[in-house]
Amino acid sequence: MHSASAYLDHNATTPMRPEALAALVEAARAGGNPSSVHGHGRNARRIVDEARASVAEAVGARPSDIVFTGGGTEANQLALRGLRAAGILASAIEHDSALPAGAVRVPVTADGVVDLEALDRLLAAAPKPALVVLMLANNETGVIQPVAEAVRIVRAHGALIHCDAVQALGKIPFGLLDLGVDTLAVSAHKIGGPQGVGALALRPDLAIAPLLTGGGQESGRRAGTENVPGIAGFAAAARAMGGLQPLAALRDDMERRLKAVAPSLRVWGDASGRLPNTSCFGVSGLKSETQVIALDLAGVAVSAGSACSSGKVRQSHVLAAMGADAASAGSAIRVSLGWTTQATDVERLVGAWSEFYLRRAGQASAAAAA
Ligand code: PLP
Repeated sequence: MHSASAYLDHNATTPMRPEALAALVEAARAGGNPSSVHGHGRNARRIVDEARASVAEAVGARPSDIVFTGGGTEANQLALRGLRAAGILASAIEHDSALPAGAVRVPVTADGVVDLEALDRLLAAAPKPALVVLMLANNETGVIQPVAEAVRIVRAHGALIHCDAVQALGKIPFGLLDLGVDTLAVSAHKIGGPQGVGALALRPDLAIAPLLTGGGQESGRRAGTENVPGIAGFAAAARAMGGLQPLAALRDDMERRLKAVAPSLRVWGDASGRLPNTSCFGVSGLKSETQVIALDLAGVAVSAGSACSSGKVRQSHVLAAMGADAASAGSAIRVSLGWTTQATDVERLVGAWSEFYLRRAGQASAAAAA
């Protein structure tokens, strides 16, 4: 990661924690296939078993109910496909990996919170058994969703519920068993672990059909030799992660100062409970892409809404679901703090954004006077 810049895009990926890197390297050096019966294999099996216990503790589930996957996307897909529901209802703000084309979209309020009355209504009309997909916290706005309340509604309709907790892990406390969901997805690289490894946690005794077949690994729920170094790094990150709650003060102060410079600045979802590290804001008409480039030139890394895999900026379906018009949605940028963030990084963002904004405002008034 470019050390001279202020990296404020932790929701896209957060730098690897030294504990995770050390565990990853150690497991890679040790080698061994967990399915082999000899000593090398048994050592690799021990690494995976210990990692399973750590990840289970981090997500409040039983070790035997953890399925390691190739990331958050695969964990979401395993739940969506493997639970074999007759129909899927997904909140309109889910990550693309949890929002299949055929899903009924459950609306959200202007504050970015899923509409539970609509969920109740839509479930009544859904084919049975239905699967509800609801994230614990949104990746673009940070808005925390009422998952425990949704579970009560879901149970009243005899439906299943999958929770994408990829952005919540390490930022707010939760547990699968406490929430009462059927399945829960997490990803290592959002908590300081390596990219390309994640997990699906299951409620006890839940059967799930594998996405990948052709081997008995992960108790028949995910075939393929385990990514032992990745899994070891994931678990080390899970053990090392602390809460990010102290970052809320830094984030709130940043928003106050930006609003003082640009009174029309809107912070998306700020009337709702949010993750402590996330801020999605914009001034209508000021293009996201232009801001991201200007900030990058000033040594500040942020993203435009959600970072798309193609690297292209497209209109956010999350902000559209919150009722944003094209000009407002196209002006939002996401600043996300993380475990390496210092007050000076936020200082740099506030300085660079304010300078950009005031220069733009100056240009606009000069053009109007001409
Ligand atoms: N779900 C959410 C809410 C995310 O923010 C992301 C990544 O941005 C994913 C799922 C996908 O996780 P991964 O990058 O591990 O595939």
